[in-house]
Amino acid sequence: MDAAARYIPIIPETAAPTRIAHYINGARVEVADGPTSPVYNPATGAQTGILPLADRAQVDVAVAAAKAAFPAWAQTPPQRRARVMFKLRDLLEANADKLASMITAEHGKTHSDALGEVARGLEVIEFACGIPHLLKGETTENVATQVDAYSLRQPLGVVAGITPFNFPAMVPMWMFPIAIACGNCFVLKPSERDPSPSLFLADLLAQAGLPPGVFNVVHGDKRAVDALLEHPDVKAISFVGSTPIAKYIYETGARHGKRVQALGGAKNHMVVMPDADLDQVADALMGAGYGSAGERCMAISVAVAVGDETADALIARLSPRVHALKIGPGDAPGMDMGPLITAMHRDRVRGYVDLGVTEGAQLVVDGRGREIPNSGDGYFLGGCLFDHVTAAMRIYQEEIFGPVLVVVRVDSYEEALKLVNDHEYGNGTAIFTRDGDAARDYVNRVQVGMVGVNVPIPVPSAFHSFGGWKASLFGDQHVYGPEGVRFYTRMKAVTTRWPTSIRAGAQFVMPH
Ligand code: NAD
Repeated sequence: MDAAARYIPIIPETAAPTRIAHYINGARVEVADGPTSPVYNPATGAQTGILPLADRAQVDVAVAAAKAAFPAWAQTPPQRRARVMFKLRDLLEANADKLASMITAEHGKTHSDALGEVARGLEVIEFACGIPHLLKGETTENVATQVDAYSLRQPLGVVAGITPFNFPAMVPMWMFPIAIACGNCFVLKPSERDPSPSLFLADLLAQAGLPPGVFNVVHGDKRAVDALLEHPDVKAISFVGSTPIAKYIYETGARHGKRVQALGGAKNHMVVMPDADLDQVADALMGAGYGSAGERCMAISVAVAVGDETADALIARLSPRVHALKIGPGDAPGMDMGPLITAMHRDRVRGYVDLGVTEGAQLVVDGRGREIPNSGDGYFLGGCLFDHVTAAMRIYQEEIFGPVLVVVRVDSYEEALKLVNDHEYGNGTAIFTRDGDAARDYVNRVQVGMVGVNVPIPVPSAFHSFGGWKASLFGDQHVYGPEGVRFYTRMKAVTTRWPTSIRAGAQFVMPH
């Protein structure tokens, strides 16, 4: 019996959908009436949850709880705040499997991929454990006679995070561990599609000893987001999602006097040089193009083959592997990828495949009609591979966010570099080559925020910071790492004179 035939869904399709709660001031808050949104298991198409959509008044309650908790939390010594992070780290490690199952049930990605998501979020918590060191300021003795100067970093107050569906645990963990460790209080507005992991994280934070009100979860759509953007007590907004919404968040938040970091969409290119190890390239493209069904902001969606020989050899390697992708429910063993997030998104991605054919690209592997075992009413789509895609085509220009890899053929390295630099997005990119000169030149001249050399998905580790360029990020600071600490704190510069007995007399000119 093969792995797919043994599949039994964790959540029975017949189970009634459960009502999901907000999490405010250390407790679940059930809402009996008001607008709701359905939550589905994308692998079965069954509705599993009923999500309340907060109105302005409910957002006010969460922000008020966070504001009330702020003075005591901000005064809590950083080392004690770090101890909560240490405990959270251990709790998360012990509960990683459970959290991964929750992610798979609402997002659809494979269980092993969901475990990877949890592990990457956990790294940011580990980074936040070092917050006492990260918050240290600088001192200069004797800036004038017996005058000393120092700087310190203080938290902002109430800060909010608005997150996308594709990493329902990791992206919130890019934000709240650092915000909270810096002494802020946090209101999270997770994606409506897969909201449950954020509530589980809230429970773990409470078990780790976080005081009520420091971390809150409010579910909702545009109304809740607008209430956060306009709220006078919210001092900063971290956003991750699609580019049009990121731009809206940045502009609206800034208009309301907030600090904003808004990460948007992507179209990530991998440049394949003629001297690259093509077996290694094919392995990298399979994982980076089709892992998580292509629903990653760092997925490689464009392979730029330098030279026809490189392109032909690459297509020959990729084509049978795309045909052979193991596709099925994410909680079935041995799957390479699961379903897409919603029926609407699956249809949108399929629409792009139709469009690519109309635009004249060569569809080498057509996943549209693929038979997928155990797919039921789930939102599945087979892997698709296009060759002979050009820069004029919409399937090249726009983010598809599905299991669709396009190959663009160019004649030279310079042409490849220009193609990448001319693209609207600048999130991640990679070059595969054995030529150190080419790799160094690429790192130096490419207009993209995160670059891999023979590394397909160059997500920076937690000790660095994550962020793209161009239409992939609005704002000045990247998320997590040192830039995360800067984003969630503001600098104060202090000048002191001791002893007080010294009298300089009244001075009417600038000290010089
Ligand atoms: P999305 O933009 O639809 O939603 C993101 C968040 O914005 C959600 O919480 C949603 O409720 C809210 N939102 C949606 N429409 C809104 C509106 N009109 N006004 C106010 N708020 C609104 O994104 P998504 O579909 O959940 O996620 C996929 C997108 O996120 C892709 O474009 C992907 O590239 C991007 N993404 C980027 C990164 C990155 O680091 N740059 C990381 C992950 C995902």
